[in-house]
Amino acid sequence: MKINKNKKINTNFIYKIIEKDILKNNSLNIKTRFPPEPNGHLHIGHAKSIFINFNISKKYLGKCNLRFDDTNPSKEKIKYINSIKKDIKWLGLKWNENIKYASNYFKIFYKYAMILIKKGLAYVDNLTKNQIRKYRGSLIKEGKNSPFRNRKIEKNINLFKKMKNGYFKDGSICLRAKINMKSKIIIMRDPVLYRVIKIKKHHQTKNKWCIYPTYDFSHCISDYIEKITHSICTTEFTNNKILYNWILKNIGTKNRPKQYEFSRLNIENNIISKRKIKKLIKKKIVKNWSDPRLLTISGLRKRGYTPISIMNFCNYIGVTRKENFIQMSYLEHFIKEDLKNKVKRAMAVLNPIKIIIYNLPKNYKKIIKIPNHPKIKKFGTQKIVLRKEIYIEKEDFEETSKNKKKLFINGKVKLRYSYFIKAKKIKKNKLNKIEKIYCKCYKNIINKKNKKKKKISIIHWVSIKDSIKTKFKIYKNLFKTKYPEKKKNMIQYIDKKSKKVKIGFSQKDILSKILKNYIQFERIGYFMLNNLKKNKNITFTCITKFKK
Ligand code: ATP
Ligand code: MG
Repeated sequence: MKINKNKKINTNFIYKIIEKDILKNNSLNIKTRFPPEPNGHLHIGHAKSIFINFNISKKYLGKCNLRFDDTNPSKEKIKYINSIKKDIKWLGLKWNENIKYASNYFKIFYKYAMILIKKGLAYVDNLTKNQIRKYRGSLIKEGKNSPFRNRKIEKNINLFKKMKNGYFKDGSICLRAKINMKSKIIIMRDPVLYRVIKIKKHHQTKNKWCIYPTYDFSHCISDYIEKITHSICTTEFTNNKILYNWILKNIGTKNRPKQYEFSRLNIENNIISKRKIKKLIKKKIVKNWSDPRLLTISGLRKRGYTPISIMNFCNYIGVTRKENFIQMSYLEHFIKEDLKNKVKRAMAVLNPIKIIIYNLPKNYKKIIKIPNHPKIKKFGTQKIVLRKEIYIEKEDFEETSKNKKKLFINGKVKLRYSYFIKAKKIKKNKLNKIEKIYCKCYKNIINKKNKKKKKISIIHWVSIKDSIKTKFKIYKNLFKTKYPEKKKNMIQYIDKKSKKVKIGFSQKDILSKILKNYIQFERIGYFMLNNLKKNKNITFTCITKFKK
């Protein structure tokens, strides 16, 4: 992955449209909205939408409303409303005035539905959901009129009133727009505008209503009521725009909002959609919405991502209409960039193997003073201790390797901030696993004549006596396949090893190196300290690892 530092990120096609509109209308109060359905938690895709909508309002001195699109009580929950508010605040964004709810406008939607009925542009239909689907036809088959399509206006008014008054059962009846069952655009084949949902109490309006408008009917009217100028959504709503404009025109509005679409965010080896996340939770593949492997805002927070890193990522990926998949390494790049100069560095060993430096005396102790950060002086210095017995990473040793990057028998490496060591002998246990490695240390092998040796790699380590047992939670992408969103059976592609817990060692004084919960373990990556628990090992979550 290569980040293009020269990429133009301060403009995109939506900004250009807005700038044209501002020029056309001398004074235009730009207003956008972010309209989540409270049927799940926010994810990184929502962060992109939030970033776009809130930034437009910031850039053009406008406003951005947070509006809950709460027109389907059978799927919505108050806990989702609360988590959405919490996540937006955590991302550092402020919505305009009070929070809006589509349910604030139920009375107005009803009034407009009546207007359409009275104009002969909507009718009450008794077909069932399945029948409606069958009658609708397909891309290659024209739709068929419902036998109830030509009901008299008076009859429709009465039936719609009865719907509102709770006369009918869920799913037995609905209100549809009367447009064209032969339209090439399927969405225009008499879309449903209202349905009966009695089984669930609405979290805002309680039992006041038992009929609820569909997304298509409520969304455009909500935008109109709130004087939204640019209604920005994802490309799967491109066809809905025709209906959006049809409704606004036929209910008799002026100065209508306009819809613009951008492509959804997809990230390789991950799924983003709420529906799919719910499936993973149901199948117990992840524990909940905030599993650190999920790209939900709460998952990213638990993993250690910062709001700035997420917003910088959204800024970098930009806004286009083309379907695309972003590499996970882009997101990782922005957290590394954010933490790079904000955290101290220390050493830890995740997969320890014992080294005995046999040419050092038994009680050898050398205190080494090193900086807490190679570039940031104000972070101060720390003291590390070299002793006869140390741990290094198992991966840094290979018995027979000639790989210059590793320690091998008769091969040399340099201990970070300390001496060179050469492996001489290994001791294996009964299971033929290496128990310890005997090494010889050299205080200095680099001299001007022997520059080649400078290529020797430098490895991290901790002295056994000066380290403490530490737990490390390591996560990988949830999916082994690049495009799980496109697979029929995504479960098949889950990486069962995407979550690992390692017991290793870190410097004894590690807690004193933590800044705002973060640390960089040299050569490994960035980590976040978990809540400390009495009598439990210190635990770190790995946010992102360095590429080896
Ligand atoms: P999901 O597919 O995850 O259920 P949704 O579109 O149903 O998402 P909403 O709560 O309706 O979720 O989304 C609120 C806003 O966020 C919408 O404007 C929607 O277009 C946008 N949004 C949702 N997912 C993405 C995504 N992956 N990338 C960009 N924007 C998104
Ligand atoms: Mg939606």
